[in-house]
Amino acid sequence: MSYQLPNLAYDFSALEPHIDTQTMQIHHDKHHGGYVTKLNAVVEKNPSLEGKELVELMKSVNSLGLSEEDKAAFINNGGGHLNHSHFWEIMGPEKQIDEALQERIKSTFGSIDSFKEEFGNAATTRFGSGWAWLVDSVGELKIYSTPNQDSPYLKGDTPLIGLDVWEHAYYLKYQNLRPDYIKAWWNVLKVLE
Ligand code: MN
Repeated sequence: MSYQLPNLAYDFSALEPHIDTQTMQIHHDKHHGGYVTKLNAVVEKNPSLEGKELVELMKSVNSLGLSEEDKAAFINNGGGHLNHSHFWEIMGPEKQIDEALQERIKSTFGSIDSFKEEFGNAATTRFGSGWAWLVDSVGELKIYSTPNQDSPYLKGDTPLIGLDVWEHAYYLKYQNLRPDYIKAWWNVLKVLE
């Protein structure tokens, strides 16, 4: 059973005006779709990966016996698949607040606003392509960013909130103005107020 591109739970236009329809369409179908295709190619070449949980494979990527080339392809495309599947799920046209997560954030960062400021800084200052993350790291909430499609699971952390800051995520609407995209994104992040 190969990996599949998941359908969105909402229309491509549902996150307008914060994320435009064309960006959503290209991002989901072409970018995420491309990661899934290339991930399946790595699995096809390495049958020992078949039928395993992708998260578990990512956590143990160094002990899978992959060639350097296949390991890099697995990190990029398996990470791309995991990261984007998560990204689509935490967004939506209507707020659906995760109260427990929100309380944890308040008790760790003082307030939702100060969390957003710290997370926004991580997202703004990530040089080049990558992601900003709120993760659970051995029971502790942490904010950091990762390059390319590196998944927090590579460090053994569990992603809770991830923001894609690759230019493909915002360039059609925001061009070089990544901070404007980040500011608008809080409106479509459904899990926080
Ligand atoms: Mn992306």
